[in-house]
Amino acid sequence: MNNQGRRRFIEQEIVKCSRCGTCRSICPVFLAENNENTTARSKNRLMEAVLEDDIELTPGVQKRFEKCLLCKACKAHCGSGVATDKVIMEGRAAAVERNGLSPMKKLAFTGLRYRKLFDLGLRTGALFQSLIFKKLPEGRGRVPRILLPGAGLNQRRIIPDMTANPLRVRLPKFIKARTAAGKGRVLFFTGCMLNYMYPESGEAVVGILTENGWDVVIPEKQCCCGTPAFTSGDVETGRFLAEQNIKAIRAEDYDHIVTACASCGAALKYEYEHVLGDSPLLKTWQGISTHVFDISQFVLRHCDLTKLGNLPIRVTYHDPCHLVRGMNVSAEPREILKAIPGLEFMEMKDASRCCGAGGSFSAVYYELSRKINDKKLDNIEDTGMDYLVTGCSSCRMHITDGLTQRKSAVEVLHTAEVIQMAYEAGRKEGKHVNS
Ligand code: SF4
Ligand code: SF4
Repeated sequence: MNNQGRRRFIEQEIVKCSRCGTCRSICPVFLAENNENTTARSKNRLMEAVLEDDIELTPGVQKRFEKCLLCKACKAHCGSGVATDKVIMEGRAAAVERNGLSPMKKLAFTGLRYRKLFDLGLRTGALFQSLIFKKLPEGRGRVPRILLPGAGLNQRRIIPDMTANPLRVRLPKFIKARTAAGKGRVLFFTGCMLNYMYPESGEAVVGILTENGWDVVIPEKQCCCGTPAFTSGDVETGRFLAEQNIKAIRAEDYDHIVTACASCGAALKYEYEHVLGDSPLLKTWQGISTHVFDISQFVLRHCDLTKLGNLPIRVTYHDPCHLVRGMNVSAEPREILKAIPGLEFMEMKDASRCCGAGGSFSAVYYELSRKINDKKLDNIEDTGMDYLVTGCSSCRMHITDGLTQRKSAVEVLHTAEVIQMAYEAGRKEGKHVNS
């Protein structure tokens, strides 16, 4: 889409908004702050005023576009189908064009463009993280030793351990299936958080795939999916990263593409269409996007659930926004969890309501994101289950922070880790005799 096309798109969306206010009842930011300015209808009206030159895109207006989790709940509940999330992203992009990015975001997104430098920076940072972050017991992550308010890391915020041995270093580029009769090849798009912060979840994905007869390829030249950049209004960096990833994927042979991060998956499958604009790689992406699956979708369609062994754990499940409303994935993880022998599953209240992470939202508005998270934590604890399972590293980080602050014993696991644990149990039970 060129600039004219983008303007037409926004106009078409905001004209659909009847200001009915249904979105007020679902917006987590509005529910936490009770401020009309934060609602979807208010953002649509704001965009209308900007387009009609009634108001200027001042930094104050920019802040109003910032106060949104892009959770897509308003869009999902809007009777008129207004894509307010896209309107807000366009508002952010226009504001960044006029006022620029914050210095912190500018630095971070510039770093994302240099794949090798970014990698070196994070791996070096991992080696020295003990100087700034204190390790917490039981693998719950780290807490800053000093005040780091600029990065949303005040004294209390807990973040995961960064590994000096990332997933893409631990694993070779090609991994053969464990069974002789290979079914085909899966391209695994790892994303940044699985690579640097939760490599065990990534290893679980590879374990599941190879256990079920799939060869795996992990493209070396993949980089950040671009979600942090394009959702912050840095469309140029977002497009650059999307193009790098499309080239990296295009260079490989594969039958399917698997992601295990809600944001990466939604970006690769749907968001790139908007991000790419009139890029010459749009057509290539259209061919690629139809092959993209979240790991839970892939397991349900292409893996053998009869090999899952007894796993006597008690779990509830949180729907990441970018999985349930970004990729339309919600039944699949539940179906798999319920298929695991011995596993007790209990649904929590409002499982699909945003936890408040929202990518960089929780860094900029940490106190507000904690308030939103508190509702989620109450609902998790009310189930009485021992584990919270989810398919998004950002949700995992935010929910782990909240649970640890509350001294809750509930632990958080990635869906892939639970599935892999059940496959390992099945192996011990002799369910994999023909593999
Ligand atoms: S965005 Fe949709 S739900 Fe919200 S006021 Fe407009 S029409 Fe109503
Ligand atoms: S995307 Fe979510 S946070 Fe943003 S306006 Fe809509 S409901 Fe509110």
